[in-house]
Amino acid sequence: MGGQEKKIDLLFCASEVVPFIKTGGLADVAGTFPLALSKYGINVKIVLPYYRDLCLEGFEVEKIGTNIYSTTIGENTEVYFIEHPRYFDRHGLYQHNGVDFADNLERFVYYCLETLRLIKRLNFKPDIIHCNDWHTALIPVYLKAFYSDDCFYKNIKTVFTIHNLGYQGVFPAEQFSVTGLKKEFFSVSGLEFYGRINLLKGGILFADKITTVSPTYAKEIQTVEFGCGLEGVLRGRKKDIFGILNGINYEQWDPVHNQAIAQNYSIKNLQDKYVNKTKLQCMQNLPQKPQIPVLGIVTRLASQKGLDIFAESIPQICLLDLQVVLLGTGDQYYDQIFQDLSLRYDNFAVNLKFASQLAYHIYAGSDMFVMPSRYEPCGLGQMISLKFGTIPIVRKTGGLADTVFDYKASAGRGNGFVFKGYTPRALVLVIKRALKVYKDKQAWPKLVMRAMLADFSWDAPAKQYLRLYTHLTGKSCVC
Ligand code: ADP
Repeated sequence: MGGQEKKIDLLFCASEVVPFIKTGGLADVAGTFPLALSKYGINVKIVLPYYRDLCLEGFEVEKIGTNIYSTTIGENTEVYFIEHPRYFDRHGLYQHNGVDFADNLERFVYYCLETLRLIKRLNFKPDIIHCNDWHTALIPVYLKAFYSDDCFYKNIKTVFTIHNLGYQGVFPAEQFSVTGLKKEFFSVSGLEFYGRINLLKGGILFADKITTVSPTYAKEIQTVEFGCGLEGVLRGRKKDIFGILNGINYEQWDPVHNQAIAQNYSIKNLQDKYVNKTKLQCMQNLPQKPQIPVLGIVTRLASQKGLDIFAESIPQICLLDLQVVLLGTGDQYYDQIFQDLSLRYDNFAVNLKFASQLAYHIYAGSDMFVMPSRYEPCGLGQMISLKFGTIPIVRKTGGLADTVFDYKASAGRGNGFVFKGYTPRALVLVIKRALKVYKDKQAWPKLVMRAMLADFSWDAPAKQYLRLYTHLTGKSCVC
């Protein structure tokens, strides 16, 4: 790094961070993107709540104040945990048995306020606080509402990333006093949203810059179809919204290095991928036939993920000569549906749980990976499966449209199979199209190799964020 460059200090706030705790892609991003930034000379610290279910094994954790624990990840990235027994010492992050915790507003108000107090206690004055999703959305609001005259906080800029507009942190108006904000903030130009409190709206209105996790989703959320009621608010901040794709961490998501899979492989020894297939078939009590295509799906069970069209298609899909392995957890509505289907079709294996190890086996052992999402802000599954040479079959929406390109036999182009219409018929047709190519012993390995060579690491997204941070702070950095 050149002598005249000043390091950017950045605080990264997220409600879940790998390797400590994860319910979805936000955790992957929060645990890997800051590490990518630190490689570019950004001085970054991470803050999350001290949940009961944190996995801290193998980390040296220090108590550094009455309610703060700290440790490090990566080279030396500091991570801080905010403790509050009543709010965070319970199973589950946001809900239990599918029902949101009644005190979620209080819990995340506490997290946001304590995060702002923490930086002063640490005497760490970040140039930027990078907030993620509704859990952290009050930080930009509090900075303007409570701290605009405090010289410690005054010049701190904020970036707010929307990972999924479908989750807004909406609470009854009667709880507004919990936020500690003056009544004026509960207005059309503030956190009020159809008579309720909307934290995400606060983040959108008060942050200096807003990003979301793919260029296509950045456009989609400004439309009625995808805006979840906030399209007008978003259009009002159009100039400050940027769509930057998420990346993935190839130290974890790479068949060459991954320690959990049955057999490591690369494009040089693709045949070893099929050791993983046999292992997966064995684990799932499916006939161990190497030639039969395996279709994997690893997903939160949420309506966003296109599971209604997937479930409706299962009777037709399972008539085809293939095996299907599903790993998913979430909305119990889908548990029964998939459980019943798995009893009817013996080539459909269903695992209703959150299981990181099994996820690795599915990415490595399947031939194809399906994501029929109704909407998908970015999606990590398709990027992970590409790296594992497991060909994604996706619906053309959000980040899926930005990362998976339809296979064109004649041009030798594309890295997966893409369909548009949100119907079981369109899904079955695209799967049939993929199966046809799978049978082509020349074309399929070429497609697999092309998929594995695609680069969805953090390099390019981190550089885009660096440009944004540089623009916001006036400080330069290495890119
Ligand atoms: P979202 O964040 O909307 O859930 P993404 O595709 O962005 O979707 O990220 C999902 C991440 O969570 C991926 O790393 C995926 O492998 C993982 N995942 C989802 N469901 C499960 C599950 N049941 N068990 C293990 N990992 C899961």
